[in-house]
Amino acid sequence: MRSAFLPFCRPSITEDDIAAVGDVLRSGWITTGPQVAALEAAVAARTGAPHAIAATSGTALMHLTLMALGVGPGDEVVGPSMTWVSTPNMVELIGARNVFVDVDRDTLLASPEAIDAAITPRTKVVIPVHYAGAPVDLDPIRALCARRGVFLLEDAAHAIGTTYRRREIGCDGSAIFSLHPIKNITSGEGGVLTTHDADLARTVRRLRFHGLEVDAHDRAQQGRSPQAQVQQPGFKQNMADMNAVLAVRQLPRLDAIIDRRDAIVRAIHAGLADVDGILPLRDPPWPHRHARHLLVVRVDERACGMDRARFMEELKRRNIGTGIHFLASHTHAWYRQNRPEWTGTLPETEWNSARICTLPCFPDMTEDDVRDVIGAVKDALAGARAMVSGGIR
Ligand SMILES: *Cc1c(COP(=O)(O)O)cnc(C)c1O
Repeated sequence: MRSAFLPFCRPSITEDDIAAVGDVLRSGWITTGPQVAALEAAVAARTGAPHAIAATSGTALMHLTLMALGVGPGDEVVGPSMTWVSTPNMVELIGARNVFVDVDRDTLLASPEAIDAAITPRTKVVIPVHYAGAPVDLDPIRALCARRGVFLLEDAAHAIGTTYRRREIGCDGSAIFSLHPIKNITSGEGGVLTTHDADLARTVRRLRFHGLEVDAHDRAQQGRSPQAQVQQPGFKQNMADMNAVLAVRQLPRLDAIIDRRDAIVRAIHAGLADVDGILPLRDPPWPHRHARHLLVVRVDERACGMDRARFMEELKRRNIGTGIHFLASHTHAWYRQNRPEWTGTLPETEWNSARICTLPCFPDMTEDDVRDVIGAVKDALAGARAMVSGGIR
């Protein structure tokens, strides 16, 4: 058994990255300034989006964007429950209602048909998730949103570097990326909104920083003119340069990071191909590049001889970390109590919510680490099966 604990995720940080953060700290300017501007320019260049706006988190940008779109009481927002609950939380906090759609059992992606069926005259925004870095079927979703007059906002938290039909996520429409440390590249905490909508970009920029109008002059000054006026009350969710510089450093490595993740996912899938009861996700059939943000499997209790909780415990005993991405939003305590109408209505989501388990996958994993993950899974299941066949269950 391995002696050191292998977490399911660890950010990829080089000594040069650390030195770059040190340079910012020594520069005398550590909050929003040239590094945030550089990050926004780099994300715009990478994705092909005309506007990129950085903030303290993907969640913050979700909040600001929903506000900027005028979403509020009486409005509905359509999206999967199988997502990080931060998005449904923001919908609730601005007074709107979540309308949850079920996902495909094996890709965990929301289909155009499911989204179309969930739209009502009260729907303002549709928020599909590019789950684990696999893109949803964007062309028909974009077409139906245009036809039904609702705003399409992509939750691209997992999807920096993902492509759909040869187009980079973020290059069309509006998408929110996360730079949380678990994500493929990180700024410590942070997020970036990309959009073609100049009005949306302007309003989100303003809401991000007290509601002050930020013009080109202010940005050229790397600060804000003392005369700037509040145009509407705003928040304080600007990213700091000491954070931005990390992501600025990591973005040029994104392709190498994804390639390494892809190799790890393929190796672990191959190593577990003959293991009954550990069901990988399926990649969607449309042309895409998968960002391989999460290595998610489903634990089939009958074939494994143990449920997910026990499986995770057995891996932990073998020094292998795991995670759950995600418990379906509508199964969280507050949602069960306050939005009970969703309980039992999303069968594929609920089936997966009870079985999904994230295995280790991060670029700095070694070949030995990969072998240890495969070995630990096989060893854990072999023990359980021996007990089942020996009648000790
Ligand atoms: C991480 C994540 C978010 C939120 O990103 P933060 O930067 O952590 O706020 C939103 N949606 C999904 C699917 C995520 O995984």
